[in-house]
Amino acid sequence: MTSPTQPTASHFINGTYVEDTNGAPIDVIYPATGAVIARVHSATPEIIHQALSSAKAAQVDWARMSGTERGRILRRAAEMMRERNHELSVLETYDTGKPYQETSVADATSGADALEYFGGMAATLTGEHIQLGEDWAYTRREPLGLCVGIGAWNYPTQIACWKGAPALACGNAMVFKPSETTPLCALKVAEILHEAGLPAGLYNVVQGLGDVGAALVADAQVDKVSLTGSVPTGAKVYAAAAGSIKHVTMELGGKSPLIIFDDADLEAAVSGAILGNFYSSGQVCSNGTRVFVQKDVLEPFLERLTERLKGVVMGDPQDPAVNFGPMVSARQMQIVEGYIAKGRQEGARLVTGGARAARDGFFLEPTVFADVTDDMTIAREEIFGPVMAVLSFETEEEVMARANATEFGLAAGVFTRDLVRAHRVVAGFEAGTCYINTYNDAPVEMPFGGSKMSGVGRENAKAAIEHYSQLKSVYVRMTELEAPF
Ligand code: NDP
Repeated sequence: MTSPTQPTASHFINGTYVEDTNGAPIDVIYPATGAVIARVHSATPEIIHQALSSAKAAQVDWARMSGTERGRILRRAAEMMRERNHELSVLETYDTGKPYQETSVADATSGADALEYFGGMAATLTGEHIQLGEDWAYTRREPLGLCVGIGAWNYPTQIACWKGAPALACGNAMVFKPSETTPLCALKVAEILHEAGLPAGLYNVVQGLGDVGAALVADAQVDKVSLTGSVPTGAKVYAAAAGSIKHVTMELGGKSPLIIFDDADLEAAVSGAILGNFYSSGQVCSNGTRVFVQKDVLEPFLERLTERLKGVVMGDPQDPAVNFGPMVSARQMQIVEGYIAKGRQEGARLVTGGARAARDGFFLEPTVFADVTDDMTIAREEIFGPVMAVLSFETEEEVMARANATEFGLAAGVFTRDLVRAHRVVAGFEAGTCYINTYNDAPVEMPFGGSKMSGVGRENAKAAIEHYSQLKSVYVRMTELEAPF
């Protein structure tokens, strides 16, 4: 297949592209047209073995290098990603269908931020000295060893970097499996890391479906698994990792609340609701998909939202003027269409959207339902598409109870001009990542992750170091050692 999007080979192992056409073929489809733009092959047991064993071998010397040396390579890779931002963004758009307008500012750039941040932090990773009278103890911060990263399809470049950067900074090796829906971008991340000087084997990419992910998780050589995916997959991977007490990070799904009080800056609240529901066509785990609007401002909110949605520009996502792309796949589009049908059946009021767009590809109109009640399916289940559920409320106490009445706990947001209330509400949220008068910002300096069924552990920030390293405690006796006999 000769296409500009066709990678050199399916896998990247031990510093080079590797092919094995014995693996099941995986067609890569451009979501904006439905056309096949590349083909890769799923990893065979031999490919999985090569990826794990080369990573395991390479990790030993990598961990012996100084943090400054490791960090320099990561920071060089960050620079290269920024220089190649256009090319990487075009590829991200082909892989996911997200508009270039988004990918050019949110994907390779976010990946580069992670590489730069953890590259800078690598040199600062230390243990501590603990004085115990004349004796003393110290801790060594050591890598975990061989880490497996498994990605979802919505942010393939970002996820590959958010997992790879802290893992490598701490002295680990990583084998990364992208979602089979978006296999292209992680290969570029591996290529750039190695061009930047990463020794061969430290960041390997293998393709495949869930069975390949499961084989990686089950392997006895693996010390840690970091998954971005749905709650059901998370439960399976967590259980598989438990068999050999592997470390885990689980970044899973959500059904996050966004609360808009009647004193809020309405225009900003509408912006927050748009960003938290329609960016990446709604395919964002932390989206604020249950929008609770205080009764007095409900109709003005809906009016302004409907007006602002006239600014949606659908079309070829590679066109920089386009700001709204398709669903990632036909399957995802069908899932979301099913939820839209459920919303109608269960009596929600369709304010706008609700249909497929009259064009090729997997486009759905941005959809807003009002009069949604807590028991409706669209208010309880993660949809992962451009469907906003608007619910109304009267009091703070009532809305807090309803906002937290979910198994998920990824994110939550509040719009209000009342400073005290904003902090009180955030303190009451049962969620890992919260927003006041904004929504969905995810800078690398801020920990990101969920509570309850939405996950375990944190990505980004200093917090991620805890999840890619372990402490060794060393007691040093300076005084005479006494024993009872
Ligand atoms: P899935 O849970 O279907 O898949 C996630 C990854 O796990 C894929 O690479 C998948 O492979 C792999 N996988 C599937 N089964 C297994 C298994 N038994 N063992 C090991 N790996 C397995 O999620 P999606 O790709 O559909 O992504 C959407 C989900 O991701 C949403 O629920 C969303 O909320 C969540 N998400 C969470 C984020 C967060 O940070 N909290 C961020 C982004 C998304 P394959 O798909 O190739 O079969």
